[in-house]
Amino acid sequence: MRRASADAYDAGVSTDCLFCGIVAGTVPSTKVYEDDLTLAFRDIHPAAPVHVLVIPKAHYADLASLVAADPALASSLLAAAAEVARVEGIAEAGYRMVVNTGKDGGQTIFHAHIHVIGGGKVVGLPG
Ligand code: AMP
Ligand code: ZN
Repeated sequence: MRRASADAYDAGVSTDCLFCGIVAGTVPSTKVYEDDLTLAFRDIHPAAPVHVLVIPKAHYADLASLVAADPALASSLLAAAAEVARVEGIAEAGYRMVVNTGKDGGQTIFHAHIHVIGGGKVVGLPG
């Protein structure tokens, strides 16, 4: 089914969204962190030894849509990303958070996500 805009299904679960499939468990992933609102799993094309994607369980097309609709959830997403860095053991050495937004921003999956990247040399930023 085609939708008029991504906003039409923000905050729900999209059946044609890959990351909603990961949340639902119909698409496999390697989970590294989960709480009530967020989920983190390894990127299939890692740009560094640690490359984890942190997503809200609810569908928002990008971070700008998420922060406009639910700033508390955006804050929880950032906290989850920091927690991922901690559990992955890269918090002290340092890491990058990358958020690609829109086509020119290199976004390829239109479900809001933060890349947490570190643990060694970064070979090209995602997007
Ligand atoms: P972006 O370009 O910011 O939209 O990033 C999307 C990321 O999702 C890319 O780094 C992809 O490698 C990653 N990706 C795509 N499909 C999967 C998947 N099934 N499991 C894990 N990561 C994925
Ligand atoms: Zn989604």
